[in-house]
Amino acid sequence: MDPILRLVEKMAVNSRGGTKMNCKKVTDSLLEYIDGSLDTQLLEVIESHLATCDSCSHRLKILNVETQMLKSYFRWSNSQAANE
Ligand SMILES: [Zn+2]
Repeated sequence: MDPILRLVEKMAVNSRGGTKMNCKKVTDSLLEYIDGSLDTQLLEVIESHLATCDSCSHRLKILNVETQMLKSYFRWSNSQAANE
């Protein structure tokens, strides 16, 4: 590969916040992130990754919406049960 292309590739990887492995780790921890149950060290890793990674921050948005929907569903179904 052209050395300049290699350099560009390297920069692109850096600006995305690292490797695929990192993305997988972050993805696996997103629910705990939303839940607020992550330990401080991991929280910092994840927040800095989210700041630089479009696909993970997009995934976080989707998970947040899904979580909100589920929460309101359970609130609704609890209130239904309470009315009976
Ligand atoms: Zn990522």
